[in-house]
Amino acid sequence: MRYRHPHGTYWMKKADDWNSLLVRAIGYCEKCNTPGEFEQKSQAHTGGLENHHILEKSVYLMYRYLKTNCICICTKCHTEAENDKNGFRKWLEENRNDIFLWMIEAEKSKHCTQINYQKIAEQLEAQYKEFIESNWMDLEAMDVPPGRKI
Ligand SMILES: [Zn+2]
Repeated sequence: MRYRHPHGTYWMKKADDWNSLLVRAIGYCEKCNTPGEFEQKSQAHTGGLENHHILEKSVYLMYRYLKTNCICICTKCHTEAENDKNGFRKWLEENRNDIFLWMIEAEKSKHCTQINYQKIAEQLEAQYKEFIESNWMDLEAMDVPPGRKI
């Protein structure tokens, strides 16, 4: 994956990783409801969950880490969403109208101030750990330390 901001690369990657993990920690596809392995980025194998940015993350930098702009979906739904953007918008309008209405307003703006990726990465890491502690206590019993695969 290539980033446009050389100085932000390290912390941007860190922030992306924590954000993705935090979004995926919901544990199921928000589109088709299939449960998935949130600790595994799916890529080639099935059963994984991915972070789909409703507004493109490289264009709308200021929404790159905004919860509203991120949806946890499975590989199959992610591929469909990328290949059929209008279809995904229609699904959003019909099923997640609050997000759809946010998107319509948000996509009018493309300007962005400077982003402190290090601060964002640290905040997201803390949020992720807090989320895991309050939602996935059974992970300890399963001997899967949160964040292990970061
Ligand atoms: Zn799905």
